[in-house]
Amino acid sequence: MMTGDTSPDERRVLLDRWAADKIDLMVATSAFGLGIDKSDVRTVIHAQLPETVDRFYQDVGRAGRDGCASISLLVNTRYDWRAVGGIGRPKFISAAFGLQRWRRMHDASEVLDPASNQRLIDLNTGRELDMGASDYNRAWNLRTLQLLQRVGALEFVHSARAVTACQVAVRLEAYRHLDEDFWNTTIEQLRGELRGDYAHSGELLRRMLRDNDECLANVFASCYRSETFDITAVQACGGCPACRRAGRVPDCGRIIARRNPSGPVSPSAGDVELERLLGGRRSAFIFYPPDFFHDALGGILAEPLWWLATHGVKNFVAPPWLTPLLWRTAAQAPHATLFWHEKPPRNLDVVAAQATAVLLTRPEPSWWPEFWAKIATRPGPSIVFAPADLRCPDVRTRMVRDLVDGSTMDLAQWENRFVA
Ligand SMILES: [Zn+2]
Repeated sequence: MMTGDTSPDERRVLLDRWAADKIDLMVATSAFGLGIDKSDVRTVIHAQLPETVDRFYQDVGRAGRDGCASISLLVNTRYDWRAVGGIGRPKFISAAFGLQRWRRMHDASEVLDPASNQRLIDLNTGRELDMGASDYNRAWNLRTLQLLQRVGALEFVHSARAVTACQVAVRLEAYRHLDEDFWNTTIEQLRGELRGDYAHSGELLRRMLRDNDECLANVFASCYRSETFDITAVQACGGCPACRRAGRVPDCGRIIARRNPSGPVSPSAGDVELERLLGGRRSAFIFYPPDFFHDALGGILAEPLWWLATHGVKNFVAPPWLTPLLWRTAAQAPHATLFWHEKPPRNLDVVAAQATAVLLTRPEPSWWPEFWAKIATRPGPSIVFAPADLRCPDVRTRMVRDLVDGSTMDLAQWENRFVA
């Protein structure tokens, strides 16, 4: 059992025994979970409500890191709801105390590199003189630095000079970070946003448990999606309570999130049939009849996508409304691991060296030049689907199909050559 009162020595012994599989069951407060990376945790039991869906997700994420099945049990009573929003509430330092702490840390810091404005900060610096080397003090100092980091006023950097856990190296932006005005406006605004995020995450948890009719994957996705930071979340559910009740078949594990693993990849198509489609070029354009849209488009593209998925194409870049089509493709190609990406021009960088299929409908003129340049220069092969009557957005009199430098064919021609 581990709580906030466990001494550091006891804690170390417990963690060592836990790591060595000498302990079967660890009962702990929520602080325990942080930094625990044991791959074969099989079950996480919440004896109390986590305060937000974010917290819940972090906790259950301790289980099944070896990729094997694991269980999450949430045992709560209606009385637990009162505690939510109380003890576990995240702590945001006030602007006044934050500035006070920051000034002291800044004044006491050591300049590492004047040119790049790097400094070594001691987290044991006290807000007042009587504070010093305590966990409490360090935690508040770190929260202060994190606030500055989130508004872009500083960046944590690596330095060989930061030798103890109480020292952090930072690079300061040329910023008004010591101004009261800056703290009262920019930092205050961030604090408001963070509190809003927290409230939202708490509300999601309530929705998830109280209503119990929404797939958990949807709840998590709405928590982790960010337009601002261009983060999409892909729903994959192996059978949550809501889905089981609704009789939905588990559908998970093959379409993986947008960021794909890095690693050595062959710039060649790597598949004989795919090479034939490319005809020695770096890109192939397949033009579909222009009168197909939305649902109907999903129908006519299903077969070519499946074909690509079974011939080594892992990445599909498509507008979000085509996602159901990609799901169906994944279901039909059970052994392929597929990645899907939104926002066509930007995400071509993410998968630069890999064979990638792009589904174009009506490209935005604003991103067309960028898209065009990327298709022409990316090292990996591209297979682009486009409507046959697509005109070049910048030179409206010209048809895209007459301009492209690549293997081109109509969908019907593709069918004749590759399916029949
Ligand atoms: Zn579900």
